[in-house]
Amino acid sequence: MDQETKKLKEQLFYEPKLVWDEIDEEEKKKVFSLAEEYKEFLNNAKTEREAVSFIEAYAKRAGIPVIKTFRNKVIALVKPGKEDILSGIRLIIAHVDAPRLDLKQRPVYEKWDMSFLKTHYYGGIKKYQWLARPLAIHGRIVKADGTAIDIKIGEDENDPVFTILDLLPHLAKKEQYEKKLADAIEAEKLNVLIGALPFGDKETKDRFKLAVLKKLHEDYGIIEEDLISAELEVVPAGRARDVGFDRSLIGAYAQDDRICVFSAFKAILDCDQNQKTAVALFVDKEEIGSDGATGAKAKLLELFLSDIIKGIGKQVSVADIYHMLSKSKAISADVNGALDPDYEDLHEKQNAARLGYGVCVTKFTGHRGKYEANDADAEYVGWIRRLFNKNKVIWQTGELGKVDEGGGGTVAKFIAYYGVEMVDCGPAILSMHSPFEISHKGDLYMTYKSYKAFFESSDEDKIDECYS
Ligand code: MN
Ligand code: MN
Repeated sequence: MDQETKKLKEQLFYEPKLVWDEIDEEEKKKVFSLAEEYKEFLNNAKTEREAVSFIEAYAKRAGIPVIKTFRNKVIALVKPGKEDILSGIRLIIAHVDAPRLDLKQRPVYEKWDMSFLKTHYYGGIKKYQWLARPLAIHGRIVKADGTAIDIKIGEDENDPVFTILDLLPHLAKKEQYEKKLADAIEAEKLNVLIGALPFGDKETKDRFKLAVLKKLHEDYGIIEEDLISAELEVVPAGRARDVGFDRSLIGAYAQDDRICVFSAFKAILDCDQNQKTAVALFVDKEEIGSDGATGAKAKLLELFLSDIIKGIGKQVSVADIYHMLSKSKAISADVNGALDPDYEDLHEKQNAARLGYGVCVTKFTGHRGKYEANDADAEYVGWIRRLFNKNKVIWQTGELGKVDEGGGGTVAKFIAYYGVEMVDCGPAILSMHSPFEISHKGDLYMTYKSYKAFFESSDEDKIDECYS
């Protein structure tokens, strides 16, 4: 290839860039220090409630001017900008819930002199991944008199853990091996082992269950009926870990979507001199379709915004809020699935996101013919691209899997509904929805950097003239 051809190719072709090839030594140090803060967040925020209380406490200490919470499961952080809020906001929305096993409302039983808890899984899990591993229980119990008790057991090294039994291979041939993977583990067999000592003599009926309830009564003052008004979540026990000899990766539960929650949270804390009002909104229930009072389909954004506007002494109508939203820009901050070398044929490689190539901009999500997708305008993707390039954010584009292979959604479409400019943007991870999801520290850093640039952005770019 002659020099001229080579030059022409460089000029015309697009190739994503590896974060590590593009940043200097100083920025590489920042990559690793940000990862330490992120792991600390993961260790303190294993459930939606824990994430919300961690963020609330931290944001208060950091002096975030407006903090709105809703039912301990949704939180919005707001930093007013120099411009009038009615000129439009910069919104980043991410979700604080993650796939897990919830306890049923009558969970406790005994069988063959062992006691167990019955569960109902929450969100998209591969059931086999939850067997034969240490598990912790987190959550809240509301007693008959209305007092709430928060529980977290299985995380301290001196705590006991819990587990779900798996069948020994010697007996697994018909029961598991010959079945389809999806059918091999029944949901009703995801029962958590919690004890094996009785209370009372041999004549006592249900004495293993009794021993568990006695212990719960001693420790928390609760009776069996209290478990009906409880939200107890079974999650993988243990802390977030560095992965790899080079410590380039992070392995932890619930990085979908805590990696975006953390990045957006950190970005709003650090953003400086923002022109537009910056809003970071963290919602619940994404993993089960965003329904319910704490999901993205609930009208909480309107509620929070009208409160904020009232708070600055303005009288506005609902129509004014809709106008404001139609002039706003948003990022749906959620993870994408990175190209998995062992299953590369399920990805369309030219359009698959890759680990280590920076934050991933996804124009549309959805499945099979873009059904149920938010499909961002070319103009908005152009604006985002320009913003990221201007701020030296290493980014890529990515589509989740081959066209008819599957797909997935995010909260994007529920907020785009207000006429907000909306695009999906977050890092790509591996082993998504597993108890040990894998992210790249370089991608975490670029996600944070991209969100910060977004919060600090102005409408000065000419591209905005399209929306007059
Ligand atoms: Mn997600
Ligand atoms: Mn998910």
